[in-house]
Amino acid sequence: MAEKISAVKGMNDILPPESARWEWLEQKVRSLMSRYAYRNIRTPILEHTQLFIRGIGEVTDIVEKEMYSFEDRSDKHGDHSHLTMRPENTASLVRAVTEHNLLYEGGKRLYYMGPMFRRERPQRGRYRQFHQIGAEALGYPGPEVDAELILLAVALWKEIGLTDWRLEINSLGQPAERAAHRAQLVSYFEQHAGLLDEDSTRRLRSNPLRILDTKNPSMQALVDGAPQLINFLGAQSLAHFDGLKAVLDANKIDWTLNPRLVRGLDYYNLTVFEFVTERLGAQGTICAGGRYDYLIEQVGGKPAPAVGWALGVERVLDLIREQGHLVPPLTPDVYAVIPNAASLPLVMQVLQVLRDAGISIHMHTSASSDSMGSVKSQFKKADASGALFALIFGESELEQRSVALKRLRGSPSLAGEAQTLLPLDDIASWAHLLGRGTTPH
Ligand code: ATP
Ligand code: MG
Repeated sequence: MAEKISAVKGMNDILPPESARWEWLEQKVRSLMSRYAYRNIRTPILEHTQLFIRGIGEVTDIVEKEMYSFEDRSDKHGDHSHLTMRPENTASLVRAVTEHNLLYEGGKRLYYMGPMFRRERPQRGRYRQFHQIGAEALGYPGPEVDAELILLAVALWKEIGLTDWRLEINSLGQPAERAAHRAQLVSYFEQHAGLLDEDSTRRLRSNPLRILDTKNPSMQALVDGAPQLINFLGAQSLAHFDGLKAVLDANKIDWTLNPRLVRGLDYYNLTVFEFVTERLGAQGTICAGGRYDYLIEQVGGKPAPAVGWALGVERVLDLIREQGHLVPPLTPDVYAVIPNAASLPLVMQVLQVLRDAGISIHMHTSASSDSMGSVKSQFKKADASGALFALIFGESELEQRSVALKRLRGSPSLAGEAQTLLPLDDIASWAHLLGRGTTPH
């Protein structure tokens, strides 16, 4: 046998039954997004590297060391392109919105779901291919949109049964306010230059705000004593922040102010927020977002305000599991027991009618090409499938133009009860017997 080939490090297969949890979450998200009138957008995985350099910022972990980039082969016209697999979706989304002039008629509310790629050290909650769901509102300057996005996320947590989260918010103000803060921050860190680690010493010149984001425990005291941006905000920035807090308070959403919340990306201004949990170890941020009024311009579009968030699907699903919240497994309505292979053409014609009527059916299929296997072994599989019913396509019943129905589970008073015969000539009328209607799977 040839040598086995395994998946790329940090990139996971999502297999059944686990994949059912993903579909379940995606379905909840789609339905929720439509209630808030956010529309789906799908952008390519590959973009020009330049987009992320400009849209994320050169002095960020992502651009400095985490991107999967390559030189594309030149095409007929001799174009060389330097391409990158998207490490996040905001820059691509802004590119698409600009390219297609989507803000021409006013603001847009958009959402996306999909894989992102970052070359990080794989560990729990941190992968090289991971998945984000994101919501973004472009073209709206007011704090009510920041608030709407947070309410949307909170509604999602409620919908999927997530309770162990905490909301942290902060305001980064506007560029001039950041500049004043930055000057004092730099002089504070310069006074304590001996206490800075290597990364922070480098960032002191390039991006001192990021020092506040450090995960190095030996720098916590230093960082705690640093000047806080919130104290540099002017009246307008504070009014924006107050506008957000008023809506959160009216909706009884608990929040805490985290003055050290600066986010990893450079294009944020005013509102920033994170949903965090204590239950996932070091990778405790499940959703992060904020306002990025300067990004669209930076990527070459007509200036327009914007705000959004992205959640990590793996972390959210992990937290659901951690809380012991069960996602119902996918099970078929019916398992088709087929004693005799000769009846397959007729059986499959019947199954087709039932499936057209919305019944989900697991058809018994044999591993051997000359026998369907014993009825007893078929019933074992029917039981294991989780199906509510078995339909038994026995030869003598088929000869009488009928099929036997047996309830396998669901209603204890009926389970194990004798079989009922259903007439083949009126298949459509069985459908209501077999389906689960609106009861959840
Ligand atoms: P972190 O500080 O954990 O590295 P980040 O600031 O890089 O997060 P964002 O770019 O804001 O993260 O992405 C939004 C969300 O996507 C994160 O809050 C997290 O839930 C998830 N996420 C980010 N990177 C990864 C990854 N490598 N693997 C799994 N989930 C991730
Ligand atoms: Mg990161």
